Amino acid sequence: MCHMNLPPPAPTLSTPAWRPAAAFEALGPGFATAVAPQPLPSPQWLAHSPSLASEMGLSDWMASEDALLTLSGQRLAGGATPLASVYSGHQFGVWAGQLGDGRALLLGELQTPAGQRLEVQLKGCGMTPYSRGADGRAVLRSSIREFLCSEAMHALGIPTTRALALIGSPLPVRRETVETAAVVTRVAPSFLRFGHFEHFAHQDPGVGHGHLRRLLDHVIAFHYPQCAAARVPALALLEAVSRRTARLMADWQAVGFCHGVMNTDNMSLLGLSIDYGPFGFLDAFDPLHICNHTDSQGRYAFGRQPSVAYWNLHALAQALLPLTDGDIDTARAALEPFKAEFSDAVQARLRAKLGLASAQPDDAALIDDLLKLWSTQRADYTRSWRAMSSFDSAEGASNRRLRDQHIDPAGFEAWSARYARRLRAEGSSDARRAAAMDSVNPKYVLRNHLAETAIRQAQAGDFGELRRLLQVLRAPFDEQPEHEALAAAPPDWAQHLEVSCSS
Ligand code: AMP
Ligand code: MG
Repeated sequence: MCHMNLPPPAPTLSTPAWRPAAAFEALGPGFATAVAPQPLPSPQWLAHSPSLASEMGLSDWMASEDALLTLSGQRLAGGATPLASVYSGHQFGVWAGQLGDGRALLLGELQTPAGQRLEVQLKGCGMTPYSRGADGRAVLRSSIREFLCSEAMHALGIPTTRALALIGSPLPVRRETVETAAVVTRVAPSFLRFGHFEHFAHQDPGVGHGHLRRLLDHVIAFHYPQCAAARVPALALLEAVSRRTARLMADWQAVGFCHGVMNTDNMSLLGLSIDYGPFGFLDAFDPLHICNHTDSQGRYAFGRQPSVAYWNLHALAQALLPLTDGDIDTARAALEPFKAEFSDAVQARLRAKLGLASAQPDDAALIDDLLKLWSTQRADYTRSWRAMSSFDSAEGASNRRLRDQHIDPAGFEAWSARYARRLRAEGSSDARRAAAMDSVNPKYVLRNHLAETAIRQAQAGDFGELRRLLQVLRAPFDEQPEHEALAAAPPDWAQHLEVSCSS
């Protein structure tokens, strides 16, 4: 039974109306196991997301003792039915068998004032049947990273799971050293992954195929209703997931986000960024940058993310095969649109980053050549894009400040003559273009060293930097001159930072 060391609060207007998660009500016991949270001892509020709390209509509740106790697993709210779901997956390209929510518990779902149903998970609230010998906890370090990155990605306009709250505790947790525990409250319309389908596809067909069918019906009914009327709904779903995943990859590439562990169990069926572990935003631009210290082969290097996503979609296609009445080639054909969707989306985002209002045949080469200049000199990815809004397109303009930032000034000059001609050809206004570019080229991203500074301070009991970062990253496109230092190139010590799967 659930650990409840305090009586439930009298219901008030602001107490959330928890309901069991519809997904697992419909799907039944083969999909998830009821598990009581292991309370986080001596919970302490570290931060919460005011914007998400407000979207969920929970602003008042978030200030209450009930919220602290509920979101630390100390108190089980009426209507909530904590569950851990089972899934499987391919990790680093190899079938890993059964995985599952090893430390995330789905408390239930809440409806926002706007009528959206959102699932709420506690990450780090103890062991589940899928913990595979691990402790079911998450350390403060990785919880700060997940909390900040979820909210930063949302502010960048990139689909992501959200983070409502971050709660800390003195509970010791052993990793490479002894750290302390924390719990992140994660929120999403659904936490279903490619690996959920893969799990049932790998079971004995007598059991698994019925489950696969139920999962397909649920995903389509709740998240892809437009696929229901297709001749083969499973193929329509594959195509729809491919398109969303392609757009997500374009978002990641455009902003310089490297996920680090793109295993199929970390791929959202809704095309959300999910499971923030050893991620990183590019500092120096290197297409083959590897952000995860554990990824020795560079399988998940920055520039490989789109092709890895496509590989992962093949694993999903394989899993859905029994529902397609066809062969693997037919299922693979449903993934085909990924390529054009990704290429169109990434080109559109990069054109916008360059302030190009129309699409012209030579744009891809123009963009490519700029990226080559930057990759050769390992230019800072975020700062280089941001600086481009100061470009003067007038004939004969020297753009000296921009040119001087390049190790190959002649190379930049030759490129900028093409760019200026291209801008003049479409009648671009420098002032209007600068504003448009600043609204898509962020000034502030969650660089590793920024997260690290906030983590070190938090580990010493000071949460000021954590809260400042949360606030600054909520408006990543704004100048915020008082926080200029957070937009600087990384200090030397940042080059020696290593992030791994340990969390
Ligand atoms: P990840 O690659 O971080 O997404 O994790 C892979 C699998 O390991 C997932 O099924 C997680 O739930 C599980 N896992 C990771 N860390 C822990 C932990 N400390 N306790 C229990 N399960 C964990
Ligand atoms: Mg995971």
